[in-house]
Amino acid sequence: MNKKQLKHYRGLLETKRGELVDRVRAARNTETQGPGEDAPDLGDRALTTTTREMSYRLSAEERVILKRIDKALQRMESGTYGTCLNCGGKIQTGRLEAVPWARYCIECQELLDRGEIPDLDP
Ligand SMILES: [Zn+2]
Repeated sequence: MNKKQLKHYRGLLETKRGELVDRVRAARNTETQGPGEDAPDLGDRALTTTTREMSYRLSAEERVILKRIDKALQRMESGTYGTCLNCGGKIQTGRLEAVPWARYCIECQELLDRGEIPDLDP
């Protein structure tokens, strides 16, 4: 995968990650807008979204996606992004376009879905 492609997929991953982070922030803002709460000290705390808080605010499915996104970003750093965890082949670009945090190529994902291979990165 060349640098231009990597940059493209990184953009997709970061956009999706940003959506999840925004959701957490929006949920918190709704909760903190109580009467008599001018909250002058929201400052730094309001801007920091911890991993634990992310886990608490998101649905189970969203949490899995967030974890997959972070791992995909790690694989970009280590140079293994776009490589299937099971067979070591290239993950199809059409698949990465739809699911940029995909860990398996289409063939291996089908094997996994049928329970024919174990999930190597649960
Ligand atoms: Zn594969």
